[in-house]
Amino acid sequence: IWNHIPLAKPDPILSIIEEFNRDGNPQKINLSVGAYRDESGKPFILPSIKQASKILFDQESDKEYTSINGSLDYNRLVKQFLFGGFKSGKFFIEQDRIVLAQSLSGTGALKLSGEFLKNWNFKNSNEIFIPSSTWANHYNIFKNCGLKISQYSYIKNNSLDLTNLLKDLNQIPLKSSILFHACCHNPTGLNPTRDEWLEILKIVSERELIPIVDLAYQGFESGNLQQDLYLVEMICNKIANDEISTALICQSFAKNMGLYGERIGSISIITQNSNQTFNIESQLKKTIRSIYSSPSIHGSKLVEIVLSNDEIYQNWQNDVAKMSSRIKKMRFELFNLLNSMDNNLNWNHLIQQNGMFCFTGLSEQQILKLKNEYSIYSTLDGRFSISGINMQNIKYLAESINKVINS
Ligand code: PMP
Repeated sequence: IWNHIPLAKPDPILSIIEEFNRDGNPQKINLSVGAYRDESGKPFILPSIKQASKILFDQESDKEYTSINGSLDYNRLVKQFLFGGFKSGKFFIEQDRIVLAQSLSGTGALKLSGEFLKNWNFKNSNEIFIPSSTWANHYNIFKNCGLKISQYSYIKNNSLDLTNLLKDLNQIPLKSSILFHACCHNPTGLNPTRDEWLEILKIVSERELIPIVDLAYQGFESGNLQQDLYLVEMICNKIANDEISTALICQSFAKNMGLYGERIGSISIITQNSNQTFNIESQLKKTIRSIYSSPSIHGSKLVEIVLSNDEIYQNWQNDVAKMSSRIKKMRFELFNLLNSMDNNLNWNHLIQQNGMFCFTGLSEQQILKLKNEYSIYSTLDGRFSISGINMQNIKYLAESINKVINS
């Protein structure tokens, strides 16, 4: 009966990991997956999360279902964490203008936002615009929600292509949705400056676009969790001034709490008044109920402990600062090493980019050569996940890149 089912294309990132695992070369390096690795190349549990886990282990009294949209505490604490640190956000909390629901990490939040747009933005353009270079799953998620997907320009010659980006935005149909990466753009590591964001948001306002903000790497750009909310704050300020009417924030604790497998995050929708909040929350719950009934509880309880305990919160902030600074250090080390070698290439873009990834500008052919001849694995678009680099493997990496470039 199932003979008509063809083999699905493997996921471009997960299939690289499988290949990496099969490789017997002791010098192999995995630069494909966007997950933090410590100085010895190992995954690690944040000390602040270990602290929270101990408290949870001692205190947990039941494994009951939580509410459809997550526990009241989780909702209140995450709302405070995301919006309570700046004036317009505080105002929205006070005015009950934020619908927040726990989600299955960032992917789940994006899925819920796609479902919400499909269900409720149908009177307007049901088209979502994503950057021409973006996390590959954005396309899959929104396509499965039945949205029409189009792209806007993002990168040219290893730099942000602001001219074409603005030009494209000016042609987007009114009231369409548009996806932005809040910081640490994946895969390019290139983010607009604050002034550039103001230019972008001016068009969002003029064309009445609905911004969807993907906040998967909060803390990895500046090293400070609150500072990396700058785009969320800028958009909230515009909403408070009635220049933009709404926004959807898709947030993840996978990277900044290292809770990858716990699948924990949130979706927030900024509304225009508390009546809208009430109605939208009821609809969001209806959607969640039909997909997975209610979210998982282990990760959310850990998040609640971190966000409600001042000492653990501060320890978490320090853990994030450490991860972010190790990545920055590796970025600069790689830049210095490549510059010191005879390859006549300009590597400035490596240190102009930010966050967990660097977009090397290496061609697909060069990336394949790195894999086949040196056991260095990365995605074919030339993106390196910098956390896979450490002081033990960086010299081998730089020398291999240099050899591939000169071959
Ligand atoms: N958005 C971006 C840009 C990502 O890179 C990722 C993960 N790689 C996600 C969202 C989703 O991550 P998760 O579902 O693990 O939170």
